[in-house]
Amino acid sequence: MLKGKTALVTGSTSGIGLATARALAADGANIMLNGFGDKDVIEKERSGLEKEFGIKALYSPADMTKPAEIAAMIAATEKAFGALDVLVNNAGIQHVANIEDFPAEKWDAIIAINLSSAFHTIHAAIPGMKQRKWGRIINIASAHGLVASAQKVAYVAAKHGIVGLTKVVAIEAANGGVTCNAICPGWVLTPLVQKQIDDRAKASGKPVRDEEIKLLSEKQPMHSFTKPEGIGALAVFLCSEGAATITGSAYSIDGGWVAQ
Ligand code: NAD
Repeated sequence: MLKGKTALVTGSTSGIGLATARALAADGANIMLNGFGDKDVIEKERSGLEKEFGIKALYSPADMTKPAEIAAMIAATEKAFGALDVLVNNAGIQHVANIEDFPAEKWDAIIAINLSSAFHTIHAAIPGMKQRKWGRIINIASAHGLVASAQKVAYVAAKHGIVGLTKVVAIEAANGGVTCNAICPGWVLTPLVQKQIDDRAKASGKPVRDEEIKLLSEKQPMHSFTKPEGIGALAVFLCSEGAATITGSAYSIDGGWVAQ
């Protein structure tokens, strides 16, 4: 389906981003990887994508807090592949503290990476998509784009913001062949969530597995983690012809979290 198209996934060296890049590659898309991590591990992942799926894959180390690096990454993708057709805004970080204890630098970093970077990528990528009359923009938001939790002021603000940004882009691009949607996962067991579980186990003195179950049952009627591959599969569907008129939506994939 995506053969000959190019997808860029921000923050695709780990977790949901990596699984989404793999799902898009399995569907035939060429891939621009992005994110931080060990150079050799990233190179193994990049060349592995090429071998496993018979596509071309490149890697950009652009820092999502730096607008100039973001613009250069979009330009490099268009230059290398001839176009950027699928943009997945996924890079994200977390910090957990009450607002009075929340460091201002953490607020700035979370807003920059989890929200503003999506403005900068779309700002640079959408002119080409409109010109070619085809594009898919997928923003990885969160259940926290729709409802709040204590101690996550910056994350919840950024994720609500990205759901709003999604709607505006969808309306503006509605008749140009470009769709823009958000995916709102509940708990997905990735390094971002594992750290929260480990911190809770340290604070409570309880086994990690106990804290895992507690974390799930506090929020989700379904006591299972969503798999990163499930989010990849939803992203592939949003790129399909069947999804051509789905735009401006916020898709929950959250074990019933926001149904309550
Ligand atoms: P993760 O920690 O496994 O991956 C985060 C990725 O972002 C990594 O590739 C990392 O290198 C990259 N990154 C971080 N800062 C960056 C920067 N400044 N520039 C470029 N890349 C940067 O996390 P994850 O759980 O896979 O999260 C991915 C996205 O999914 C995030 O936006 C997160 O908010 C969202 N999400 C996660 C969950 C969950 O339960 N894990 C739930 C809902 C939403």
